This record gives sequence, structure tokens and C-alpha cells, in this order.
Amino acid sequence: MKIHDRFYIHGEWVAPGSTRVHEIENPATGEVCAVTPLANEADCIAAIESARRALPTWSATSSQERSEWIHTAADELEKRANEMADLITMTMGCPRHLCPGLQVQGAIDAFRSYAQRAATMDEPDHRNGFRVFKEPVGVCTLINPWNYPLSILMGKVAPALAAGCTMIAKPAEQTPLQDFIVAEVFDQIGLPAGVFNLVTGVGHEIGPVLCGHPEVDMISFTGSTRAGVEISASAAPTIKRVCLELGGKSPLIITEDADLQAAIRYGVQDIMMNTGQTCSALTRMLLPQSRYAEAIAIAQAVAEENVVGDPLDPQTTMGPLSSGSQKETVVSYIHQGLAEGARLVTGGSQMPSGLSRGAYLSPTLFADVNNRMKIAREEIFGPVLCLIPFADVDQAVELANDSVYGLASAVFARDTEQAISIARRIRAGQCYVQGAHFTTEAPFGGYKQSGNGREWGDEGMLEFVELKAVMTNA
Ligand code: NAD
Repeated sequence: MKIHDRFYIHGEWVAPGSTRVHEIENPATGEVCAVTPLANEADCIAAIESARRALPTWSATSSQERSEWIHTAADELEKRANEMADLITMTMGCPRHLCPGLQVQGAIDAFRSYAQRAATMDEPDHRNGFRVFKEPVGVCTLINPWNYPLSILMGKVAPALAAGCTMIAKPAEQTPLQDFIVAEVFDQIGLPAGVFNLVTGVGHEIGPVLCGHPEVDMISFTGSTRAGVEISASAAPTIKRVCLELGGKSPLIITEDADLQAAIRYGVQDIMMNTGQTCSALTRMLLPQSRYAEAIAIAQAVAEENVVGDPLDPQTTMGPLSSGSQKETVVSYIHQGLAEGARLVTGGSQMPSGLSRGAYLSPTLFADVNNRMKIAREEIFGPVLCLIPFADVDQAVELANDSVYGLASAVFARDTEQAISIARRIRAGQCYVQGAHFTTEAPFGGYKQSGNGREWGDEGMLEFVELKAVMTNA
């Protein structure tokens, strides 16, 4: 049992203002595995004031200095990578043998990449009659979800540090443990007090103060569209910068002349990764009517290759959902799909065979889905894939775009050029063609209700930057 009873505020481990705690469930067993304190308003204000006090000195450091801090922190995070993987597996069920690759190492590497990007803050931009300077936005509230808890934290902390911002991190209630390690690392290396602060608590309780306080300049949020709306409302009266990374219902278009085997394997593996709990998961597979039956058979075979079970077993490819309540949500969508008349190809709402406890579900495929069904429109956030037929490419693009979301997308076509020409017609922030994969070097973010900002790459850094134009044309 992991017990935390302090917040990290202004370089100190401080006692919370209230005695309320949150019990974290291990989704593989349903048992309590950790306890963290719940912040109240005063705790949050202390963290915000700490970040504000630290800002003048931190924002005045040279980019070289900030770059060195990032490298030093990355070295120490590396040493604790295994520990973080253990904690992530314990709290959200990602198979332990996949956890380093999926959840930890890429996050640390990407964090380190911002050491170099810190230098871009000083790049001279002399134009005709004026100069443009980059300056940090200021005090940032960073609020995170539970599905990739370290990666998403790193995607905010790294550019914030590099730009010269100070911050308050608020992890998801279910997965705060790696954030404590990050705070311990910053403490150990002696990062100036107040640059990084950590509070844990219930989003809708402390969100209004973390996102509404006048001393906060920016909110970087990853999570549900519902919470994104509430956060935007809290931030509106003081016109804060709000960077939102929200939900998705991402399409994969497979054309009639694509390599069907390769395309379907890619699509099914994509959705089942992390037990379907990936914001950019390709949850709608759009298939040519002429090859629909063939495609369903391939998808079923690939889905059934998964080994669902104990995340500590090296044979497991799919662990539990992140919590019992997340499983209940997914089960209700499976019932909804059946009620709407979709055809269950494999999986379903029952416990996978051989398992008697834990938040497990089997990979679930629905065929005969049309884009009006709730299971094709709403984010399920579980291992559930909708197989939707189309008559021609124009209709496929129309179906792909017929969503309130626009986070990711993918295309498998005859060749790369044909796939890119389809990609350009999809309204989404990313498109993966011919089996391409995620990289933290590329900007990531959504169109429409999937969000309004970009994370990762050079663009992720710009979110934390204010531009100042100094006129010299007197
Ligand atoms: P969630 O919105 O319930 O919670 C996310 C975080 O927001 C948590 O820390 C929570 O405490 C906090 N929160 C909730 N209500 C809040 C409020 N009113 N004010 C301030 N904070 C509040 O989401 P979740 O269930 O943890 O995560 C799943 C969602 O995250 C999915 O919709 C998924 O698509 C999305 N997501 C998006 C991305 C992306 O980059 N676009 C990445 C990962 C996850």
C-alpha cells in the first residue's frame, strides 16, 4: 500500500489543510492500493501563490540554465523509470511488460527533448521596423487524466519549464503516484522552490480555484470534453489562455484497394492498445462494402489473438479497464450497441473466461454499425471497435467527418500519395497513413470538440509562450 499525506508546495512537503483522502483502486483486483490527500481551496491557493512568487526569478533564467535543469531531471527520472512503471501498472492496469514502452520511456525521452527547445526562447526575430520576443505565459495549471498519466504530465511540464513558466500539477484522482515521483525528483535536484508544485484532489471540487484564480495565467488540460467545458467556463472571467486536449471518436478509412490484412491488423491493434483507453484510438473502422464480410472475419481473428488478464503476467496483451467504474461505463455502451441493433462479432459485456475479479472485458467488435448509433458517435473509452461500411471514398470521408470530434484519423489506401490525398479531406489534428505511428516530435491536438491546442513538438512549446512585439520604427 502506497500512502502519501503531503503536497509539494514551494519546495516543501506540506500537510494538507483537510484530513480527507482518496483511496485508489488496483483495477486488476478491485483492492485499495494507495491513498492520497484531497486538496481544499486553501491548499490550491498556496500552490498558486508559490508558483506566482517563483515566476520572476525562474522566467529570468537563461534558456541554457533551464535546459540544464531539464537534462538533470531527465537523468533522475530515468533512474526511477521502473518504479513509475510499477505504479502505473498498479493504478491503471497497463500490462507491466508493455508499460515501459507505452507509458514511461517515451515520456522521459520527450521530456528531455525540450531541453533543446528551451533555446528557441532566445532566437532573435528582427523584422522590418520591429522585433518579436518570446516570453513565458506565466503561472500554469496542468490538469491530467489517468490513461497515460506520465506521458501527458511530461507533455505539459517539459514545455512549461523550457519556456520559463511556473506550474501547479493536478493529476487524475485514479493515477497520481508518478506525479509524486516527479516532484521528488525536482526536489532532489534542487529545482528552485515554487517552479513545480503538486496538489492532488477531486477535479470538480478544486477545478474552479485552480482554473479560475486570478494569479493563474494559463490552463493546460487533457481529459474529457465535459471537463474541458467546465474548465473553460472557470477560466473565462479572467481571460486565461486555455489549452484543451479532449476526447475523440477517430476514424480509420480503409479503401477497396488497400492491403486489407495489414490495415485491419493495424486498426484492431490500435484500438485494443491500453485496453481502448487512448484518446486518439481509431474507434470507427470505415470499410468498403465490397470487402465488408472479409474485413469482419480478419478483424475478429486479430481481436481474438489478445490475451486478456493479469497485468503482471508477461503473456497478457490487454489488462483491465482502469477502474470498476470505467468498466461499468463501457458495459453500458455495449448494451447500448446491442439495443441499437449492432451485431456483436466478438467480446461483449461478460467477464472474460478464466477471470473472476477485476475490471476486465474482452476485445469487443460491433458490425452493422451505422454512424447515427450512439456507439459510433460517443467516446466509449474501452476496447470496443465499430465496423462501419461505406459505398465509396466520398462517403467514407463524409462519415469520417460526421463527428463532433476531430482528434486523430488514419487511412490505408493503395499507396501513400492516395492516402495523403484522403488524409487532407479529414477534419482532424492528426492522420496516420499506411500504418504510421505516434511520435512526440509531431504536433498533437484536435479540431472541433477534441480541443483547441497542440501538444508535443515545437508547437507544444509555443502554447506556453507569449509573443511581444517591440517597435523600433520611430
Ligand atoms: P476527466 O475529464 O474526467 O478527468 C481529467 C482530469 O480533469 C482529472 O484530473 C480530473 O480530476 C479533472 N477534472 C474533472 N472535472 C474537472 C473540473 N470541472 N475542473 C477541473 N478539473 C477537472 O477525464 P478522464 O476520465 O480522466 O480521462 C479520459 C478523457 O481524457 C477521455 O475523454 C480522453 O479522450 C481524454 N484524453 C484526451 C487526450 C488528448 O490529448 N486529447 C489524451 C488523453 C485523454
